[in-house]
Amino acid sequence: MTDIWLNETLYPDWGQRFRVKRELAHVQTSFQDIVVFESFSHGRVMVLDGCIQITERDEFIYQEMIAHVPLLAHGDASRVLIIGAGDGGVLRRVLHHRNVERAVMVEIDGEVVRLAKEFLPGIAAGAWDDARAEVIIGDGIEYVRNAVDASFDVIIVDSTDPIGVGEVLFSDEFYRNCARILSPKGLVVNQCGVPFMQADELSETSARRSRFFPHVSAYVAPVPTYVGGLMTLGIAAKEPAALARSVAEIRALAEQQDVLDTCGYWTPDIHVGSFNLPPYIARYLVG
Ligand code: SAM
Repeated sequence: MTDIWLNETLYPDWGQRFRVKRELAHVQTSFQDIVVFESFSHGRVMVLDGCIQITERDEFIYQEMIAHVPLLAHGDASRVLIIGAGDGGVLRRVLHHRNVERAVMVEIDGEVVRLAKEFLPGIAAGAWDDARAEVIIGDGIEYVRNAVDASFDVIIVDSTDPIGVGEVLFSDEFYRNCARILSPKGLVVNQCGVPFMQADELSETSARRSRFFPHVSAYVAPVPTYVGGLMTLGIAAKEPAALARSVAEIRALAEQQDVLDTCGYWTPDIHVGSFNLPPYIARYLVG
């Protein structure tokens, strides 16, 4: 039998490929093309419009860094808004935090959630049924437009790249509303791509956010299947303290929240160290 390979089409001249054990689902929705398959190397994998979104084998690195870093940077977040993240992995990590009373997740494509529940149940690991979770199928820009002032402490944007449905999540209007609906110590985090291949994403996003937030930075994580080196996560805060916590402070907060020692990648040292950006990335940060 000939081998079947899935070739990622994120970059025109370079990319990764996966040997496919079996295809589990292939659905074209009004938003995007969704494929879920079993691989020989990375467990089950979800692909949107030809771009790898998540694999069972390395999802923990990205999910722990996009969830734990902003919540611990804030220090006592109880109301969290998650935009995108239809696989449920961010929701799961957010709900690990003892202080969280309400986690609202707004995902535009209901099919992503349905397929994640059916074929990738280990990623959310039951977070869908948590009484603190509210899952809304809708457009993130619409949600932040209509949300009440100062109604969230942390906003986590785990979206696709700034093309197609995800583009609006990288706009001035989106960040203006994020600043409006965040409480005085509030902060927003979003995926800013892999600068080695997608430098514009980080530079444009940080320029936009610095119009609405006084403190803008970024941190990094090595996600094996987000090819091209370090993945960046952009962070914009209303208070400087969120970006200046020591390892000891982060450790104490993580202990309080019951997340210390629950992770495969995140630690207090990794948290603080991830803000030390190499020059080829730091130069894309504005201000
Ligand atoms: N971690 C992955 C990455 O960095 O590429 C993203 C994973 S997650 C599956 C991305 C989700 O964002 C998708 O399910 C997509 O449907 C959702 N999304 C894209 N645009 C959106 C929008 N405007 N509002 C809400 N969700 C959106």
